[in-house]
Amino acid sequence: MSERQQPLGPGTVLGILGGGQLARMIALAAADLGIRAHVYAPEAENPAYDVCARRTVAAYEDEDALAAFAAAVDLVTYEFENVPAATAAFLEARTLLRPGAAALAVTQDRLSEKRFVAGLGLAVAPFRQVDGAEDLAEAIAALGRPSVLKTRRFGYDGKGQVKIGADTRPDTAFAEIGAAPAILEGFVAFAREVSVVAARGPDGAFAAFDVCENEHRHHILAETRIPARIEPGCAEAAIDAARRIAEALGYVGVFAVEFFLVEDAAGQRIVVNEIAPRVHNSGHWTSEGAETSQFHQHVRAVCGLPLGSAARCGDVVMNNLIGDQADDWLAILADPGAHLHLYGKGASRPGRKMGHVTRVSRRAD
Ligand code: AMP
Repeated sequence: MSERQQPLGPGTVLGILGGGQLARMIALAAADLGIRAHVYAPEAENPAYDVCARRTVAAYEDEDALAAFAAAVDLVTYEFENVPAATAAFLEARTLLRPGAAALAVTQDRLSEKRFVAGLGLAVAPFRQVDGAEDLAEAIAALGRPSVLKTRRFGYDGKGQVKIGADTRPDTAFAEIGAAPAILEGFVAFAREVSVVAARGPDGAFAAFDVCENEHRHHILAETRIPARIEPGCAEAAIDAARRIAEALGYVGVFAVEFFLVEDAAGQRIVVNEIAPRVHNSGHWTSEGAETSQFHQHVRAVCGLPLGSAARCGDVVMNNLIGDQADDWLAILADPGAHLHLYGKGASRPGRKMGHVTRVSRRAD
């Protein structure tokens, strides 16, 4: 469907593919603007169902359900990058899909994403395509050890990923990732990981939140801190990289670019790790820590509304509540400076994101 430029305001029905915590927080933000969320997801139970006006519980391949969904909404967005290409194409032919299918196609495959980013002249880890154990042996010879083997698709939070150490056998490592199409990445000896969460509107308007610093534990984001320990010139380069990526993708909505920050005698420099074509966990701090939250910003961007200010309100720390950490909800609520967000998931399981908590130190000025 052709790109529409007129803003979609109150009364709009925003379709959201996926029903997890990101969809839940998008739906809540949409409600603030008088926009109703219609969530489409295959699961019977989901965090987003508690807060959306309508839901469709159906498979992403169910064309009858998708057609009815497309007819019932004014536009569709999504909370995850693994939306099947056929689903995205089916919806894009019937309604407005933002971000568009092209952004999904590039970002859901690590090989095409790396080629795309490198093609923009931005630094990425050295990489090789790996389609079998023999390719892997050659790639290890080229990139050395340690290195990181990653499936091209469906990887998240360290899943589908194996570190190639001094003694790792290529055949064992390839089997470990399920013998799936993969890439090998040279190991980046980074000082820390940072990300840029930003929004681009259909008219090309762009607004980036401040660079944030992310600490992972067991491959899952544990803490985000703002400001990041990054030199101003490097922060500018990271935001410029995000802007160029969004421009090149013709992107509409909020997205995140994750970077490795490398520090050596020459100073700091950034290496792009990956692009997330959606609101992102490293942007959760914006709910209280920025003038406009990433969720409101996403709704504004996809609906063609003016973007809000991305200025931050102070120094911010966001902690994910993983597994039984969410059981401490009462103690967290007892801290008057803590902003608690729980996702309404039933049982806590190790490694499951159950909620997050944000603390903002207001600046004196
Ligand atoms: P990813 O799923 O690509 O974001 O990787 C998950 C985590 O693994 C990253 O946040 C890094 O901590 C680590 N990692 C991934 N790729 C590399 C690399 N090429 N060099 C060093 N560490 C990496």
